[in-house]
Amino acid sequence: MIKHDNQVPRGAFLQRDRETYAVVPRFAPAGVLDAATLRRLTDVVEKYRIPAVKLTGAQRVALVGLKPEDVEPVLAELGVEPAPAVGLCVHYVKACPGTTFCCFGQQDALGLGARLDELLVGYGDLAHKFKVGISGCVFNCCESWLRDFGAFGKPEGWTVVIGGLGSGRPRIGNEVAREVDDAGVMTLAQKTLELYQELGRKGERLGRTIDRVGKDIFIARLLGNLA
Ligand code: SF4
Repeated sequence: MIKHDNQVPRGAFLQRDRETYAVVPRFAPAGVLDAATLRRLTDVVEKYRIPAVKLTGAQRVALVGLKPEDVEPVLAELGVEPAPAVGLCVHYVKACPGTTFCCFGQQDALGLGARLDELLVGYGDLAHKFKVGISGCVFNCCESWLRDFGAFGKPEGWTVVIGGLGSGRPRIGNEVAREVDDAGVMTLAQKTLELYQELGRKGERLGRTIDRVGKDIFIARLLGNLA
């Protein structure tokens, strides 16, 4: 079994009982699971007698209550790496059904979400955690206004917002661009993270960095970096 120096199993985090761990296997992005994955998951849950399988707010599957020595074999049998669930990095990209499945979809949220997931998840060396939400229309089912980086679809393209968060002191994000194509959203996401790396102070979510630096200054720097 692979463990960190502090004996926490790789990718796992301690539970309330102070004895067992939870881990979030990194399945396909945006919570889309196929039959083979579900079958494998069921087999592993039964074999290791995992007490709870919890769907998270980030459209992921958390396996809860594992013995520490079971974490690595469970991941190996599932054939996936652990997804980031703690730490100063991009934790997840959540995305709604968009034009793939939803009657209201205006843009391909699942497609863009998958590309952003590949590009961003695990991106580290940040001041705090970072979350991304991609919604296929203005109804914003993936709460793009409340994510560190968000985009929602309109017929002409994506509207991009940054600096949103829930938490005990919620903050609605700031709009930075409209009518952006998929490639433009990916570039804006990358540039937002680079600027956050530069300006964010330890323990400060992006929205607080924007408030401290000044919304207009931050957005001007961000858009200036695209040139
Ligand atoms: S945000 Fe729009 S496209 Fe996405 S699930 Fe909600 S209604 Fe459908």
